[in-house]
Amino acid sequence: MFEHAARELHLFLQVSGLALSFVTSQNQPSLFDSEDSASVEFTNESVEFVYQRTDLTKVEVKRSKRAKRNVTAYRDNDKTVVTVPTRMAKRDIDAYVTELVNRLDDRDERTSSQKALEQRARSLSLKYLGQDLLKTHKVPVKIRWVTNQNSRWGSCTPDEGTIRLSHRMQRMPSYVIDSVIVHELIHLLVTDHSPAFYALMNKYPDHEKAKAYLDGYSHAQQFLKPE
Ligand SMILES: [Zn+2]
Repeated sequence: MFEHAARELHLFLQVSGLALSFVTSQNQPSLFDSEDSASVEFTNESVEFVYQRTDLTKVEVKRSKRAKRNVTAYRDNDKTVVTVPTRMAKRDIDAYVTELVNRLDDRDERTSSQKALEQRARSLSLKYLGQDLLKTHKVPVKIRWVTNQNSRWGSCTPDEGTIRLSHRMQRMPSYVIDSVIVHELIHLLVTDHSPAFYALMNKYPDHEKAKAYLDGYSHAQQFLKPE
């Protein structure tokens, strides 16, 4: 039954858009061969909702006597398990599943873009500064995008090993973002903008071009100034 339902669910998603629904019943044979599990089937009174990123055939809804009022969701390899209270109404389950699956997707996306940013900083550090400063700095370095930094493109607190990048750069060309990352990485070593700083900064070939881009952008925006 599971395979049958899963296949239909999958086809339904592909063929006719994203209207689908969970139907649960204590009396139906369990979809997942476990007493705690709920059945998933199609229904005419389907609630429309959209899963943008998770393969719905891999979402498993379990009813749990212990859950009381809590609805929880977690990833189990490529499967998403949502645990709901035994008596929860089908319509509520739909809403919770949607919400929680989307939240897990958001979290996964943040995690992967965070990893990508660290990797990017690491390669820039190795390529232009000859060492992986994320590792070799006196304290572990954390680099991240922030949304609360509107007057500077990047900032660095060397003692804490933190580098923050303004999310306003996210749609800018890569060479601009890379330039700001290199700039902030150098601040781990040289805190001011002395000749020692520029000796390192000039190793990044697009440094002047990036500065011109940011100056132009700031000029247009007035309130944004490059650090
Ligand atoms: Zn600076």
